[in-house]
Amino acid sequence: MDDASVQYYKRNVNDLIARELRHRLDLWQHLDADGGALKVKPQQLRDLGIYGGAQGIWVDKKRTGKLTADGVGISVGLLHTGTSYSDDLSEDGVLYHYPSTQRAGERDVAEVNSTKAAGNLGLPLFVITPGPTSGERRVRLAWIEDWDDRARIFLIRFGGHRVNPLLQNLQDDLPFELLSQRSRRTTATDARVGQQRFKFLVIKRYGPACAVCGIDLMDVLDAAHLCPKEENGSDDPRNGLVLCALHHRAFDAKLFVVDPETTKIEFKAGGPRGDDLRITRISLAHLSSQPHRKALEWRWAKWTAARGEAAKA
Ligand SMILES: [Zn+2]
Repeated sequence: MDDASVQYYKRNVNDLIARELRHRLDLWQHLDADGGALKVKPQQLRDLGIYGGAQGIWVDKKRTGKLTADGVGISVGLLHTGTSYSDDLSEDGVLYHYPSTQRAGERDVAEVNSTKAAGNLGLPLFVITPGPTSGERRVRLAWIEDWDDRARIFLIRFGGHRVNPLLQNLQDDLPFELLSQRSRRTTATDARVGQQRFKFLVIKRYGPACAVCGIDLMDVLDAAHLCPKEENGSDDPRNGLVLCALHHRAFDAKLFVVDPETTKIEFKAGGPRGDDLRITRISLAHLSSQPHRKALEWRWAKWTAARGEAAKA
C-alpha cells in the first residue's frame, strides 16, 4: 500500500472502531435502562450479540474481525461464573484469568489477544456473572485496565467510563505513600473497593509466587499488606508482598517479619521456625523488586514493639 492508501485504511478503521464503541455503549444503555442489567435472560444476551458462547470469553468475529489486523477480532463478553477464583470479583472490578482449556487451534491464545485488543483500542466489553436466579445473568459494562502475562490475568474495571491505562514502569519514581489518603472510617464495602487492583499490582510487581516459599499457584496466592488496611495502610503495591494463604496467615499472626535493613526473615522468639512454617527463603533478596523500605520499617517497628511488650509481661 502507498502512503495515501495507508492513510485511507487507517481512517476507515478508526471510523469502524468509533462505530463499535458507539454500538457497545448503546447496547449498554438499552440493557441498563430500569436496572435491567441485573437480571438478563441468556437468550437476550444472544439476541443483543453480547454473549453467544458457552464458556469464558466470547468474540463476535463476524462483526469485529475486520477491526484488528490479524482478524481475530475484539472480545465482547466475558463470563465469570465464580466457581473458581470467586474472591477475584467485587463491585468495582474483577481479576479475570486467561482461559486455559486446551482446546484445539490456539483458541485460548486468540481469545486472550482479542481481549487485549479491547484494552488497546479503548473499547468496553461486558462481564457476565450469575444473576438472582439460575435462569438469569447479571451484566456489567467493563474496561480492560491492564494485564499480566506471567500471572495470566486481566485487570478489569466496571463502570460507565473508560479507565486510564496503568503507568506501571513509573511506579518506582512516584512518591511513596505508606498511609491511605482515605479517611480511617472505612466500611467493609469500602475495604473491598480497589482490592482487585491492589492484588493485580502486587502480583505484577513481584511475580506470581509466594515471596517466602515460592509456591506459584494463583489459586492460593494473596496480596498481603505490610501496613494493613485496618491501620490505614495504602494500596501502593510497594506496601504489599505476594504470599500464599498459609504464609499470609502466618505473617498476620506475626510469626515472622522482614528485617528492613537486610530483608532477612526473622522468626518470633520461642515460636515456630522456618522449617515448621515451610518457609524456604531466608530473605527477600531473590525478588526482582523490593517492597518500599518505609513499609518494611513500619512492620518492623510494630514487631519490635510487640516483642518489647512480651518481654515486660
Ligand atoms: Zn508461601
